[in-house]
Amino acid sequence: MQILVVAEHDGTALRPATLSALTFAQSVAQVTDGTVQLLVPGHELASVVAEAVRLAPVLIADSPDLASPVADRSAHVIAETVKAQNIDLLVAASTSQAKDIVGRAGGLLGGAMASDVTGHSFHENELLLERPIHAGAAVATVSLLGTPKIVTIRPSSYSPATPQDLSCDAHDVQVEPSSLPSQTRLESVESGTSTRPDVTDARVVVSGGRAFRNSDDFERIVGGLADVLDGATGSSRSLVDAGITPNDLQVGQTGKIVAPELYVALGISGAMQHLAGMKNSRTIVAINNDPEAPIFQVADYGLVADVYEAVPEMVRKIRDTQAN
Ligand SMILES: Cc1cc2nc3c(=O)[nH]c(=O)nc-3n(C[C@H](O)[C@H](O)[C@H](O)COP(=O)(O)OP(=O)(O)OC[C@H]3O[C@@H](n4cnc5c(N)ncnc54)[C@H](O)[C@@H]3O)c2cc1C
Repeated sequence: MQILVVAEHDGTALRPATLSALTFAQSVAQVTDGTVQLLVPGHELASVVAEAVRLAPVLIADSPDLASPVADRSAHVIAETVKAQNIDLLVAASTSQAKDIVGRAGGLLGGAMASDVTGHSFHENELLLERPIHAGAAVATVSLLGTPKIVTIRPSSYSPATPQDLSCDAHDVQVEPSSLPSQTRLESVESGTSTRPDVTDARVVVSGGRAFRNSDDFERIVGGLADVLDGATGSSRSLVDAGITPNDLQVGQTGKIVAPELYVALGISGAMQHLAGMKNSRTIVAINNDPEAPIFQVADYGLVADVYEAVPEMVRKIRDTQAN
């Protein structure tokens, strides 16, 4: 199989989610005696490409017209590259950005698509893909009939590929400005000013739920613990709905899917829609004042306590330990 992985990056480095998508692609290529290439779209890509060539052969789509994240242009470039390179399998990480772009590329290409893939196997040379359905309550196994096959990978399901001490080939892909769609123009981007890692990339995620009465308490207690652990903050939907936390912190079925090394759930009951976003975390710690809260059923460590008392105490103890 000829496989193309769409690289997501911040202009400087590859997103960890892309490294997980690459692990899936390399595993499929190994079984099918195939090849894997990384497509890096964007502008002024030197440092991203320097990292990418340590992972796989790279196709560079560098153009000022791709400097802004405009989905229809990126989708066009991806689709044209798939056709030019006779790609059988297009792979991307299942992220907000990919949701915007890869479905459009699929529309331009035809073929067959499976999103949010969490596992794969082969049966009589056919690639079988597992994907959660009904908020993770069931897992469907599907095969894709048609070419190209288009797959997005849930990053938490595959460990990130490790850069090697080598330098693979890198080639430019021609981006013809006049052929790019021009119906959408980026006017502005507003992004958060947080210095914390993104909740989907972080090694540690500390999330807060309805126990927190306002955004000051959330920032002081949830943010305070996240900061001593060098982690990201997350939130249940009830805090987002109450306007206490911003939408991009929401973890769960209709929020972000995360699987960090450590997930700390503070004052979160553990509704199935929340669990759908975090239950694959390596270690789950829950603090809740209700010993019957369902979150304790998935937690590796649980503490029945008031978050307003227990968490500041924990932060003090962690700081003391770090200072010694
Ligand atoms: C279609 C759909 C999609 C949804 N998608 C999502 C999603 O993506 N993410 C998501 O999170 N939810 C989602 N929900 C909502 C979900 O069903 C729950 O309502 C929500 O997760 C509950 O949030 P919570 O745990 O913060 O609040 P609650 O369920 O109210 O739980 C609060 C918990 O805090 C504890 N508590 C209260 N005070 C304290 C204290 N001082 N100290 C310690 N513990 C305390 C309580 O014992 C309780 O267990 C979705 C719902 C629907 C219908």
